[in-house]
Amino acid sequence: FSRLKAGLSRSSSKLGEGIGGIFTKKKLDDESIEELEELLITSDLGVTTATRLTENLAKTRFNKDVEPHEVSEALAADIATILEPVATPLEVDKSKSPHIILMVGVNGSGKTTTIGKLATQYKAQGLNVTLAAGDTFRAAAIEQLQIWGERTGCPVVAKETGSDAAGLAYEAIERARSENADVVLIDTAGRLHNKSDLMSELQKVIRVIKKLDENAPHDVVLVLDATTGQNAVSQVGTFKELVDVTGLVVTKLDGSARGGILVALAEKFGLPVHAIGVGETADDLRPFTAKDFSRSLMG
Ligand code: GDP
Repeated sequence: FSRLKAGLSRSSSKLGEGIGGIFTKKKLDDESIEELEELLITSDLGVTTATRLTENLAKTRFNKDVEPHEVSEALAADIATILEPVATPLEVDKSKSPHIILMVGVNGSGKTTTIGKLATQYKAQGLNVTLAAGDTFRAAAIEQLQIWGERTGCPVVAKETGSDAAGLAYEAIERARSENADVVLIDTAGRLHNKSDLMSELQKVIRVIKKLDENAPHDVVLVLDATTGQNAVSQVGTFKELVDVTGLVVTKLDGSARGGILVALAEKFGLPVHAIGVGETADDLRPFTAKDFSRSLMG
């Protein structure tokens, strides 16, 4: 919890200090409510959520004296209620042998890194993990996954740049089966500037995976960069049109004042949030827990 809190320090100091600044006069009136709503919006919680949270607060406390900590605690409790239903770890179901997880997201969102982090966690659980370097467009992405493979001791199925991503996914799953792997983590390309290209590529990968297991991919995890703020919200919308997104991982919550985006995402989409990224190393993927997260968000 303290490490998560340290990771989110910038988000929380912004919100916490903001609330401290608003409620120096200690009254919840129209003006302070408006300021609070503004603060929540600029903290990326989104307009709908910001309005709902402040209205909720006003219901019981309007025209009453309030301490900043009271406001923070009330908001944290409401935010935890919003986050509770989406906080869901990405657990491997060994009976799927293998559990097939497709990672999607725009370039730079942290897909490859998140695969490395997940592989580390699954290995620590004693699971057999296969990695598939499905971002076949970028040599750097292939190399990066190979490095993660070495670090974690997981086999990496990779081909040269420009290879067919669907064929590669197929091979990776066959190899995983032959080696009795419990889980396959498949990287994908994320060039969003050409939506129809990306769509046909992702859909082809999925079609080919289904030839091996009609219920697969068992998870399609969209990786989002929290530092992009509201852009992350629109990325969910875009990717939901392309593929059947089953859950989210939100990265780069270490350096940003953007923790509020999780609340906006939960409220708007209700998709499971599997984990959050708070740094670049193998240990920097944290479970997403509603109470801890909302407490650290409020400072
Ligand atoms: P991809 O293009 O989606 O595969 O993204 P990468 O995994 O290559 O990540 C892009 C950059 O973001 C790399 O420099 C990563 O080290 C960095 N990165 C990924 N996740 C995090 C995170 O949680 N925190 C920070 N600070 N950096 C991250």
